[in-house]
Amino acid sequence: MRFSQLFGKTTKTLPTDAKIASHKLLYKGGFIRRISTGRWAFLPLGMRVWEKVYKVIDEEMKAIGCQKVVVPTLHPIEIWQATNRDKAFGEEMLVVSDHHGATFAIGATAEGVMLELVKMFRPSYKDLPILIYQFSQKFRDDKRPRGGIMRVREFMMKDAYSFADSEKQALEVYWKFYDAYLRIAKKLDLPVIPVEADSGAIGGSLSHEFQVESPDGDQTFFVCDNCGYAANIEKAEFERVPINPQEKMEPFRIIPQPEWVCSMEDNVAHYKEPLWRYLKNVVYKDEKGRIIIASLRGDQNVCETKLKRVLKVESLTPASEADLAKIGTKPGYVHSWGIKGVTYVGDLGLPMVRNYIGGQKEKTTDSINVNYGRDFSYKILADIAEAKDGDLCARCKKGHLRQKTGFEWGHCFKLDLVYSKPQNGYFTDKKGKQKLLWMGSYGIGIERTMACLVETHHDKRGIIWPKSVTPFAAHLILIRNSQLAIRKFANEVYEELAKAGVEVLYDDREETSAGEKFADADLIGCPVRLVISEKTGEKIEWKERGKKEIKLLSLEELISKLV
Ligand SMILES: [Zn+2]
Repeated sequence: MRFSQLFGKTTKTLPTDAKIASHKLLYKGGFIRRISTGRWAFLPLGMRVWEKVYKVIDEEMKAIGCQKVVVPTLHPIEIWQATNRDKAFGEEMLVVSDHHGATFAIGATAEGVMLELVKMFRPSYKDLPILIYQFSQKFRDDKRPRGGIMRVREFMMKDAYSFADSEKQALEVYWKFYDAYLRIAKKLDLPVIPVEADSGAIGGSLSHEFQVESPDGDQTFFVCDNCGYAANIEKAEFERVPINPQEKMEPFRIIPQPEWVCSMEDNVAHYKEPLWRYLKNVVYKDEKGRIIIASLRGDQNVCETKLKRVLKVESLTPASEADLAKIGTKPGYVHSWGIKGVTYVGDLGLPMVRNYIGGQKEKTTDSINVNYGRDFSYKILADIAEAKDGDLCARCKKGHLRQKTGFEWGHCFKLDLVYSKPQNGYFTDKKGKQKLLWMGSYGIGIERTMACLVETHHDKRGIIWPKSVTPFAAHLILIRNSQLAIRKFANEVYEELAKAGVEVLYDDREETSAGEKFADADLIGCPVRLVISEKTGEKIEWKERGKKEIKLLSLEELISKLV
């Protein structure tokens, strides 16, 4: 490809909202342009990477016996309603109607539709497991698309689905995809950490996110420094340990307390005790209007996903002042016990502190020396708190969880019967009986993959593409104002490389200075930069991106190195 003819140009100006490296560099390098919020065009340079990422994923899906299909983008809404997924996705789902009065969900994922497709063939146990996948445009009405192509409203996703005859077979297939994901990441040279995750809106019992660690990441996860247990913040399990076992349980007392002491900060200011000493109540309302009081130690935060899982509810919203008024209380005055008509859920950490402050605040009094089990207790005591850096690992009970941030690259879900039950997804077993299909689903977005690759492969000058996905294997630069013989030689090198099957971006621009051409080569990030000038004569200068060493090679040597 001749640079002079390339559609899309590099630029020095940045969009004002560009914060992360992939957004900045893919924009400056002329790989992508924004059409509207969360929707991006891919320019020729971007498409070359896009297609290579597609190919790597495609090959690995085929290698595990997964077969390619495609289903429509518009899904009959009834399929989504059958499993309540329309509610679980909520406002992220786009819905359209046609002129015939039919309503469709615009595909955000395709579990329901793929199951309907499989059902058409009335599978028997002999057909199972069925592994199918598609590449198709997905739509999510994300409230806050950000980070260039990292988080978008419209993207290409490889989504695969598995259908099995039993939990055992479903697990075998799950780990097959898991391993395939690790192989894809390796081929792409993408460093990933598989972390246990909550299944969220998709549903199911086992799920892994493949995280790419980055200080700019929008996801929080934990990795044990001893056993390697890794889980995201919505899932990470940790051991609660006694905080002050040396203290004796003191007698429960009601004491005077100034009226202004309401929040955790007020308590710390007034009593000068650490956060864990106080009882904390966070009030929510679920989709049915039930009021839930989550009770935990002052140093802990409620993990809403864990709380939803414990309560088996789809949504939780913070209770309003009106909600609190209905149960006879107001902000800062919620009691840790005794409120009628609410559901109390306590965290496992509650019994780990002796002599809490709080729990029964009134206008000018509060309770002290409060002990869980003696003064109050709950029917539901569960893991509802977020893990923190340094918490004891729940798996090995020796190591500590280390908090990390990253970007979620891919996701595997073991779905169990979440879809097959409401959608009547059956197969015929050996005895001729109808049994429910065990499902799994597995997604990777191509745009996100490209963004993650740039996040992990760049320096201050630009991108450093891994060989497997680079837009061109080499970036050939002809220094301007070279003599005719040199220009002819550069053209010959370009043509010979093309003939040998090497993908070359040939910067033949007449008006552009050497400095600008070098800067563009670094920005675009092909693994090898080649320079031809009057200085190099009959040779070609070879420099690898990200390295300093420069070599002079003959055309023959060059071809043998690149082919
Ligand atoms: Zn551990």
